[in-house]
Amino acid sequence: MSLTWLHELEANSCLCYNVDPMNKNNKIRVRFAPSPTGHLHIGGARTALFNYLFARHNNGAFVLRIEDTDRSRSTEEYIEAIIEGMRWLKLDWDEGPYRQTDRFDIYRSYVERLLNEGKAYRCYCTPEELEQRRQEALAQGKTPKYDGRCRNITEPMPDKPSAIRFKMPQEGRTVVNDLIKGVVEFENNQLEDLIIMRSDGTPTYNFVVVVDDIDMEITHIIRGDDHLNNTPKQIHIYKAFGWEPPAFGHLPMILGADKTRLSKRHGATSVMAYKDMGYLPDALVNYLVRLGWSYGDQEVFTKDELIKYFSLENIGKSAAVFNPEKLLWLNSQYIIKEDAKTLAEMAIPFLIKEGIISEGQELDMEWLSRAVNSLKERVRTLVELANSLRYYILEYVEIDPKAKEKFLKPENIKNLSELHEILTRLTDFTAAEIEKVFHSFAEKHGIKLGAIAQPVRVAITGGTASPGLFEVLEIVGKDKVLKRLSKVIEGG
Ligand code: GLU
Repeated sequence: MSLTWLHELEANSCLCYNVDPMNKNNKIRVRFAPSPTGHLHIGGARTALFNYLFARHNNGAFVLRIEDTDRSRSTEEYIEAIIEGMRWLKLDWDEGPYRQTDRFDIYRSYVERLLNEGKAYRCYCTPEELEQRRQEALAQGKTPKYDGRCRNITEPMPDKPSAIRFKMPQEGRTVVNDLIKGVVEFENNQLEDLIIMRSDGTPTYNFVVVVDDIDMEITHIIRGDDHLNNTPKQIHIYKAFGWEPPAFGHLPMILGADKTRLSKRHGATSVMAYKDMGYLPDALVNYLVRLGWSYGDQEVFTKDELIKYFSLENIGKSAAVFNPEKLLWLNSQYIIKEDAKTLAEMAIPFLIKEGIISEGQELDMEWLSRAVNSLKERVRTLVELANSLRYYILEYVEIDPKAKEKFLKPENIKNLSELHEILTRLTDFTAAEIEKVFHSFAEKHGIKLGAIAQPVRVAITGGTASPGLFEVLEIVGKDKVLKRLSKVIEGG
């Protein structure tokens, strides 16, 4: 695979060349490089997924790298949370998680190299001075930018704290030939001499990302387009070291329905919140991939299909809009497709959380799978599934007052009483036999089937909607059916 690249560095001259971003092993290598300053969110998960699919499609490697150089904002909890999210989505990585805080010696040696080669310099300006100049620039309506005043200091001042800045070229343009965005140009005079190492000795993002991507032999950088503006800065750092930059592909943003950047205002943005709301990881993966990528009109994909069809060419240039309704629909499709046994297992933690069973409670999983199977087409999340399973599992159900008023009138209770008698004698408590009982009951009394079925449904499930009643009764089982009928008959 060969990609055309041009990074134009000299003023008014076009320095165009081809770069084959493959490493010496001729293997595609990509990475997901989250900063652990929050949970794995929808946007990050999509970036991880696209990298994962690109690696798998190309028989390449997928590296996980934790970018925790900003120690004040990174936490162990968030590292765990990100890893937990990746695992839940089954985005398994081949290498890592590497942590940038384990690699400070490497970064320091590269900073030294730039200093020795005169491509970086010590800056003695204090944060207060910088802030004052920033305010002055703003007051004059200018974009604040470091003025380079320490660039030419020749005598080191070892007693003064210093940060290290990279000497950015100030002339010419940098042209990024982005795999998704196409050609994007930047004026070099807009770039400032960025700090690559703070005065406390910690290196900064734009620098370490370059060192790591080279060191880890990353061939393609696929990330959110909030990093597009960082790309020219990073390209200059690659050039300063004499390294060929990898290929870049910047993913369009994800927006909420109101076309503003997706945020908490639009609902849950953390991946694990979707787990808690009863979404299936495969459904979320399927939804995430469609936030920007398409393959004809197909909406539902297996993981294997995604790996087979995935390509960067099919990623759209415009922002994607997050649509919770569509995600819910996809989730329902995945619930229908999933086998009942697996769903029953998935439902257990939700049954516990909803207080329907207790932790460690023994359940006949074969039986639970039958109950789940009857509900698969009627629920959209595992939370809905757990709540519907309530009337299969509990001894008694709470009856919806409106349904009670409508369907449990005195004349219905009389019928239920008689039916209770008949069902008590029924030895073969199967859907088919129960159905026969109901038909003959309706016939004997000259009433419609619904006139007896609906009161029974209300008495047994607590509401007016359920899967086929006879199947429900069989699964609930004779014992509980009789108990619930008795309770209703007795006015409970
Ligand atoms: N650590 C950066 C972030 O979480 C990503 C950097 C990159 O992909 O280059 O936004």
